[in-house]
Amino acid sequence: MDNHREAARLDALHQLKLLDTPPSESFDRITRMASQIFGLPIAAVSLTDQDRQWFKSRVGVDHWSIPRDRAPCAAVAESAVPLVVDDLLADPCYAESVLARAGTRFYAGAPLITREGHGLGALCVLGTEPRQASAAEMMALVDLAAMVMAQIELQHAFGRIDPISGLPTRNQFLDDLSDLARDNPGEQRFAIVVDFARGEQISRIARALGGGRVEELIRDAARALRAELGTGRETYHVGPAQFAFLSPRCPDSDPDLRSLQASLERLRATSASRFATNAALGVRPFKLGEVPGEDVLRGAASAAHEAREMANGIAVYSPAKDEAHRRQYGLLRDFSAALEAADQLRMVYQPRIDLATGRCVGAEALLRWRHPLLGDVSPGEFIPVIEQTSLARAATQRVLDIALDQLAEWHRAGLALNLSLNLSAANLTENDLVQRVQLGLLKRNLPAERLELELTESAMMEQPEQALGILNALAGAGVSLAIDDFGTGHSSLAYLQRLPVKIVKIDQAFVKNLTAGASPDHVLVESMVSLSHRLGFRVVAEGIETAEAAIALRQIGCQEGQGYLYGRPMSADAFGAWLTSSHPRASAAA
Ligand code: C2E
Ligand code: MG
Ligand code: MG
Repeated sequence: MDNHREAARLDALHQLKLLDTPPSESFDRITRMASQIFGLPIAAVSLTDQDRQWFKSRVGVDHWSIPRDRAPCAAVAESAVPLVVDDLLADPCYAESVLARAGTRFYAGAPLITREGHGLGALCVLGTEPRQASAAEMMALVDLAAMVMAQIELQHAFGRIDPISGLPTRNQFLDDLSDLARDNPGEQRFAIVVDFARGEQISRIARALGGGRVEELIRDAARALRAELGTGRETYHVGPAQFAFLSPRCPDSDPDLRSLQASLERLRATSASRFATNAALGVRPFKLGEVPGEDVLRGAASAAHEAREMANGIAVYSPAKDEAHRRQYGLLRDFSAALEAADQLRMVYQPRIDLATGRCVGAEALLRWRHPLLGDVSPGEFIPVIEQTSLARAATQRVLDIALDQLAEWHRAGLALNLSLNLSAANLTENDLVQRVQLGLLKRNLPAERLELELTESAMMEQPEQALGILNALAGAGVSLAIDDFGTGHSSLAYLQRLPVKIVKIDQAFVKNLTAGASPDHVLVESMVSLSHRLGFRVVAEGIETAEAAIALRQIGCQEGQGYLYGRPMSADAFGAWLTSSHPRASAAA
C-alpha cells in the first residue's frame, strides 16, 4: 500500500467528520435498498479507518466495526474498484478473515469515492451462502454507492456554504486557512474583510423593507465581490454582511484593493437594493500558521470597523487598537459580574467646600471598581464603556443604593451634608428613574434637597426632549441638578437655560492651572462664572489643586469648589476622619 496515498485517503475521511457519528435514516434508506436488490439480509456503509471498518449504516449487523485486517471492504477502499467474492471460504485472501469465521460466504462491495478519487470505504452486501452477482446487481450497487457519496457531500457542505450568498462560510475559511498554513508555513498573507453594513443597519433595513431586501442586498454584494476578485480567489461569507478573502500582496501597494473599493462604490450607486452604507475594507497582515484563524478574521473585521472612520474606507489592523477594543469588551463582560460581586464595586467621597467659609458642605460620590485580575479600573475608563449599554441602569442603581445608605448614616450621626451623584445619559431614558430616586430617599427618610444629581452637558443634549421631561420631574421632586464638566461640551445656552438646573460645575481643565494674575484661563473662568451667575446658576469649581487657584476662584465669585487641595476622593471612613480632623466646624455644624 502506498503510504502517501493512504495518508491522504485517511485525511480525506477524517475531514468529513463522519466516523463515530450516530446512524442516520438518509444512509439507512440506501443500505436497505442494497439489501433488497440482492435479496440478502446483510448490507452496510462501511468506512475504512486506520485499522477498522466502521459502519455508518448497517442492516443485519449488530456491531459497529470489524478489524480492517483482511476485510474485503478495505480492499475496495484501497483499490477504489468494485469487488465480488463468490465464496469467502474458497478465497485464499479471505478464508481466514473475521467475516468468513463469523459465517459470511458471499461479498459484493462498491467503492465510496470522493471527487478527489479517494476511496473512503464501500457499500457492501453480504450473504451466508456462496453466490454470484449479476451485472445488473453490481450496476445498482455502484449507483447506490454514488448516492451514499452524494449524501456524504451534502452533509459535509451543510454549514460550509451560505444559503443566501452561495459562498463558502466562515467555517470553510478557517479550514482552508489551516490547510494553507500546513502547506506554506511562515508565508506572508493578508486577510481582507469587506463589510457592507453594520449589524444595526442590517436590522434597520430588515425592519423598514423586509428581510427579503436584506437577502437581495447580500446577494448583490456577493456577486459584485466575486466578479471583482475573479475566479482565482475564493471569497468567503463570514458575517451577516461581511465577506473575506486572502491576498498574497501587501494591500497598500495592492491596486486590486483600490479598484475593488471603487467598483463597490459604483455598485452601491447602481444596485437595485442600494446599499445602506459604503463598504469598509479591513486588512489583517499575518504569517501562515503563526496566527490562529479566528484571530486573523477577528483582526480583519476589527480593522474593517476602524475603516468606517477613514476617508478611503480602508484600514489596516492595528494591534494597539485591537487590544484597546478587547480590553473594553472585557470590561463590559466583567462589569455584570462586578455588579453581582460583593467586593468589586465601592464608592468614594470627595469633599465639596464652600469657598467663602472654607466649610465642607457636602461630598461627591464617585464609583470605584477593583477588577479581580486587572486591579483598579478608573471610572474614566469603564463608565464610558458601560454607559452605552443596559448596564448603565444597574450601575446607577448600585450607586444610588450605596451612596444613599451612606448619606443616611451621616445624617443619623448628625452630619448635615449634601451628596452629589453622577448620572449617565442612558439614565435619562429610564422612565422609572424619578420613582427609583424618590423611593430611595423615602426609604431612608432623607430630604430630597440633600441629593444632587450631576449630568454632563452632552448627556443632557443627547435626547434633549426626553431628558427635559425627566429632569423636570426630578427637580419637581426636590432633587437638585448640576451640569458637570461645564465648558467641555457643545451645549447651547438657550437649551441650558430651559433646564431646571441650579448648579454648574466648571470642568477641572479650566481650573487646574488657574493663577491670580490675568491669564487666558483666568479670563475664561471669570466669564464663565459671571455668565452662569447672570443665568441664575450657582457655580462650583472642580479640580482645585493649589491655594492660588482657590484664592483666584474666591475673588472671581465662584461659590463652591472641589479638589485635591481640600481632599481626594476617600472611603466613607476616611471621609469621616478627614471631616473631624480638618473641618471640625463642619462636624459641629449639625
Ligand atoms: P467627574 O464627575 O467630573 O468627577 C471628578 C473627577 O475628577 C473624579 O475622577 C475625581 O477623582 C477627579 N478629581 C477631583 N479633584 C481633582 C483634582 O484636584 N485634580 C484632579 N486631577 N482630579 C480631580 P474619577 O473619580 O476618576 O471619575 C471620573 C469620572 O467618571 C467622573 O468625572 C464621572 O464623570 C465618572 N464617574 C465617576 N463615578 C461615577 C458614577 O458613579 N456614575 C457615573 N455615571 N459616572 C461616574
Ligand atoms: Mg461629577
Ligand atoms: Mg466633572
